[in-house]
Amino acid sequence: MNTDAFIGLGSNLQEPAAQLARAVAELAALPDTTLIAQSPFYASSPVGPQDQPDFVNGAVWLSTGLDAHALLDQLQAIEKAHGRERLRHWGPRTLDLDLLVFGSQMLNDDRLTVPHRELPNRDFVLQPLLDLKPDLTLPTGTTVNALRAQCPDNRLRQLHPPDYP
Ligand code: ATP
Ligand code: CA
Ligand code: CA
Repeated sequence: MNTDAFIGLGSNLQEPAAQLARAVAELAALPDTTLIAQSPFYASSPVGPQDQPDFVNGAVWLSTGLDAHALLDQLQAIEKAHGRERLRHWGPRTLDLDLLVFGSQMLNDDRLTVPHRELPNRDFVLQPLLDLKPDLTLPTGTTVNALRAQCPDNRLRQLHPPDYP
């Protein structure tokens, strides 16, 4: 049985849009996994520390036979291959891959909180999710559309060619 998984991508170091484009290809190549769709990319102001470059964010929709923890292992391996270093909380990074939504599953353990804990507070995550699936609904019954309407505004700007590979 395959599960619809929505992954959030973010980067603000070393050509962020190129980091994201590479990561999308790597996600599409994961074992037992198909890329259904990819969102546009957006530029957004950082959350947390402000003394760092703007972020580029996007999201992908995968259909996967992996379970949520195996998928997280794969996401972390891709982050590592992109030279991700964990320096400070919410600090700059070459690549961040978050598991946003995993089918109708609700998980809360040492490694995973799904749906992602910060979803309601981040327009740079909610907007790409809406681009992918306008009627996306969380396991709680809340629609992403409703969350987007209430979410703080982070000055999201959609990227277009040549900024968008
Ligand atoms: P935030 O989670 O607020 O977006 P972050 O992405 O900067 O912050 P990281 O340093 O990338 O946080 O991850 C810290 C830990 O979060 C990871 O080691 C992972 O085990 C855990 N985690 C919990 N839920 C998730 C999730 N849904 N997707 C990815 N990681 C998660
Ligand atoms: Ca994150
Ligand atoms: Ca993360």
